[in-house]
Amino acid sequence: MVEKSGKKIFDGIAIGKIQFYVKTDHQIIRVKVADSEAEIARYEAAKEEAIKQLTALYEKALNEVGEVNAEIFNVHAMMLEDTDYNESVHKIIATQGINAEYAAASTGDDLAKMFANMDDEYLRARAADVKDITKRVVTILCGGENNSNMKDEPVIIVAEDLSPSETVQMDKSKLLAFATRLGSANSHTAILARTMGIPALVGVDIDESWNGKVGIIDGYKGKMIIDPETPVLESYLKKKEAEDEQKKLLQDMKGRENVTKSGKRIRLYANIGNLDDLPSVLENDAGGIGLFRTEFLYWEFDRYPTEEEQFRTYKQVLETMGDKKVIIRTLDIGADKQADYFALDKEDNPALGYRAIRICLTRPEIFKTQLRALYRASAYGNLSILYPMIISTDEVQQIKEISESVKAELITEGYKIGEVKEGIMIETPAAALMSDVLAREVDFFSIGTNDLTQYTLAIDRQNAKLDPFYDAYHPAVLRLIQMIVDNAHKEGIEVGICGELGADLTLTETFLKMGLDELSVSPGCILPVRKAVREAE
Ligand code: PEP
Ligand code: MG
Repeated sequence: MVEKSGKKIFDGIAIGKIQFYVKTDHQIIRVKVADSEAEIARYEAAKEEAIKQLTALYEKALNEVGEVNAEIFNVHAMMLEDTDYNESVHKIIATQGINAEYAAASTGDDLAKMFANMDDEYLRARAADVKDITKRVVTILCGGENNSNMKDEPVIIVAEDLSPSETVQMDKSKLLAFATRLGSANSHTAILARTMGIPALVGVDIDESWNGKVGIIDGYKGKMIIDPETPVLESYLKKKEAEDEQKKLLQDMKGRENVTKSGKRIRLYANIGNLDDLPSVLENDAGGIGLFRTEFLYWEFDRYPTEEEQFRTYKQVLETMGDKKVIIRTLDIGADKQADYFALDKEDNPALGYRAIRICLTRPEIFKTQLRALYRASAYGNLSILYPMIISTDEVQQIKEISESVKAELITEGYKIGEVKEGIMIETPAAALMSDVLAREVDFFSIGTNDLTQYTLAIDRQNAKLDPFYDAYHPAVLRLIQMIVDNAHKEGIEVGICGELGADLTLTETFLKMGLDELSVSPGCILPVRKAVREAE
């Protein structure tokens, strides 16, 4: 039995088999080979295997997500048959007498760079496809496994690090918990674990030899146990049973109002990342959706999702929620939330960099596609649109101009548009300090405490080393929240919190006193927060 400690991300106990998650990004070394002919044959065999995998993936996707979404695997298989691509690999092996892995990787790099520098948006996006097919062939040549295939039984995932896009692509029904060596408590991967409601730890001194063994994650104590001795396992099975019992008791909170003993009310909404989160929104009796992080939707594709694909998703969320409010946030990609096909440059200070509304305002074709999908979907429910990372009224004016032109265009095309409220995230100190002025420009505010804390305290939320300095209760942040609430109310608009702090039960009473109108939290946190509201004075 081995015991390790880690930083807790989400409470809860998970018991199950450990699956080690190895990244497929192999370190490619240039090696001389004696027989170039044999090396070319080895490449050809790997390429054929890759095509076979892609055909199988196409069939699987065809059944699960339909032809339009499955088509990408066909395109990838065709790209692997491309004469220029294959001739380049053969030529590098033959003329330089080197290994197939290196020849394929350097061909992929060159082609991807060529695509990334093209003017045409569609062709630029092909860079990610070239990288993807190359990665597949190189993985086969290196004898690696395809990680995206999780085992049939639910597992505890253990990894060096997980990016938000890797996490979102995992099959949630098979994911019991995860533990990583890297990653901070405030990263988006951590937020994802909370949204999914699964126990998770970061900063664990992991070991590859744990693969296949039984593990226990104790998200309350920040502990991981590998190969537990029988008495320990039995005691944890009992704890898990008690936890399930506790969850059942919370069910008693369903259908009750979010009202304090003295009669003060607050709205309790849910944060979601994709359609898979909807059942738990309903199960936990959320009053609405306070934050739909649409960048998660972009991660489900390896190219830009089309207007139609986005429209279908937004419509489904709105229809599922009926007349309940649904706040959908426009794309907040950038910093730790990367998608290859955006081909964003590496930055020295990504948290202070090209992200969210800054990308939308400078690449309006992406923004307009999303807004068209949103306004079209607005006819099917109670939609509010939320814009992230705002720092000035000038940005709000630019957004208004773009959204007005999108709406006019849709009306001319004969689409019906519902009544949509337009709000902004207050998550930069600039927006907080200008909130009196900004409140005159928009319909509502939503406070993003994750970024507001990061930017106010000058603490990179991604940097695990800074976790001890990250004071979620710093008076500077609490003062800003009070100021934002007061400024919003002076102008007669409503204000909520959609950052992680909203679920902190030790602050529920403080937020009620501050006058917040709404808290939007992970679906699994709704009932505990409701209980805290009802117990408050
Ligand atoms: C926030 O910053 O608090 C927020 C809700 O946005 P995100 O965590 O997605 O950056
Ligand atoms: Mg944010």
